[in-house]
Amino acid sequence: MKKHFDLIVIGGGSGGVAHARRAAEYGAQVALVEYGRLGGTCVNVGCVPKKVMWYTAGHAHHFEHAADYGFDVTVNGHDWRGLKRRRDAYIRRLNEIYGKLLDGSGVTTISGTARFIDAHTVAVGTEHYTAERIVVATGGRPMVPGLAGAELGITSDDFFALDERPQRVLIAGSGYIAVELAGVFHGLGSATQLVVRKDGIVRSFDAMLGSELMQAMHKDGVDIVTRVVPTALEQTAAGIVMHAGDGRSFGPADCVLWAIGREPNTDGLDLAKAGIKTDGGGFIPVDTLQQTNVEHIFALGDVTGRQALTPVAIAAGRRLADRLYGGMEGRRLDYKLVPTVIFSHPPIGTVGMTEDEARAEFGEAVNVYSSRFTAMYYALGDRKQRSVMKLITVGEDERIVGCHVIGDGADEMLQGFAVAIRMGATKADFDDTVAIHPTSAEELVTMR
Ligand code: FAD
Ligand code: NDP
Repeated sequence: MKKHFDLIVIGGGSGGVAHARRAAEYGAQVALVEYGRLGGTCVNVGCVPKKVMWYTAGHAHHFEHAADYGFDVTVNGHDWRGLKRRRDAYIRRLNEIYGKLLDGSGVTTISGTARFIDAHTVAVGTEHYTAERIVVATGGRPMVPGLAGAELGITSDDFFALDERPQRVLIAGSGYIAVELAGVFHGLGSATQLVVRKDGIVRSFDAMLGSELMQAMHKDGVDIVTRVVPTALEQTAAGIVMHAGDGRSFGPADCVLWAIGREPNTDGLDLAKAGIKTDGGGFIPVDTLQQTNVEHIFALGDVTGRQALTPVAIAAGRRLADRLYGGMEGRRLDYKLVPTVIFSHPPIGTVGMTEDEARAEFGEAVNVYSSRFTAMYYALGDRKQRSVMKLITVGEDERIVGCHVIGDGADEMLQGFAVAIRMGATKADFDDTVAIHPTSAEELVTMR
């Protein structure tokens, strides 16, 4: 087997595969090293199986409204095991597709754990491979706190391995994964308690989103408890109990899920042998061109500690290949105005500055428009769910710098608006756009 390449990519997840394929398509001799299943976090234990579970819980919500639309539906239960079987089979198909795509692009895939020998040499098992350039795209893994009994809890990786749905679930965390998986468990019938260490959830987004989501989840029956700092987990005869710093305890639960953030996969890489620096959290800092402190070594995706999203990793990977092998000098990813969706129930779609960020930067020049309404879907029944939208503009021309939506359809709504905002759309551009009726999205072009 060939031992010298133009490029070695470490990690066959979203970013690594995108970069390796694009570079190979430009003619580079590329090897990609992966120790797990191709597709990385997103395909195997992230976006893809999570979205299947989000759809599943969404079905449960639709059944609740079926009678409003004249259906006489009796739901006789839910086959979690059967769902998991079909979901796993779908993911296996995706793993195979990733393998074929890499082969089709001419990338040599090496199975095993990569570690640096020096700045141009990577070892996989007993074999050594050398390259002109090396890209680290090793992603991350869920964090588990260093508390007594913490191992009694599971992580999002373990969630996707569950063969049965636990009846009583306790989730610690307040970000994407905590609210998404709380929505799945609750939607499918588990008694779900979410314990957060501060006053709110999804706090890195516009404050309206966290407060609306918290109200909606409460109303739906998820028990959210604030100001809980976990100190220990204990297995009791009745189930797992979580102890908190202020003397309170939570549970007993059949399943405790840690959803408190992720840490980078850098510890086994022997980065020091290549002279690659990491920050205090183990992430690999990169400049705007994805370059590490070593000139010919680059890093991208979650391992860099930037926005940990699949399309961000893919875009960074493709742009880096465009620049290094496609002759596109200066091509790089602009990390501003990255849209994102939280697949909670109800979902959130958001792009750009929060109101607080805009006011801190632009002060009096900021204008905020918002709309609260109940989507027509709920018109025929008693169970209503509110949608809320917010537009943030700056200056006399009212350039839109932030758009935040919570409510049904938010997940599919934001992509097009993100294009417009990226192009510099103003409030007048939104107002001049004829609405699509009857939709929820039309509220974004009719706000006064
Ligand atoms: P990864 O996809 O993690 O790939 C890294 C790869 O490197 C892995 O396959 C790993 O096995 C391999 N590797 C690590 N070390 C080595 C080594 N030493 N040698 C060989 N191989 C190695 N993002 C979204 O945009 N939308 C979503 O809906 C979404 N949902 C998510 C849900 C969950 C539960 C989680 C955990 C994440 C979710 N994400 C979502 C985030 C998304 O999955 C990540 O941002 C994305 O996968 C990052 O891609 P990456 O290439 O940086 O890393
Ligand atoms: P997040 O960063 O979204 O949220 C974790 C939160 O947990 C922190 O913000 C913090 O919130 C809280 N926390 C941190 N440490 C502790 C602790 N010791 N005890 C209790 N709470 C703690 O991380 P996730 O794990 O949810 O997700 C990781 C990343 O994966 C996300 O940031 C996102 O980039 C990506 N992802 C994307 C998804 C999507 O696109 N839909 C879905 C899932 C993940 P606070 O300060 O409020 O306590």
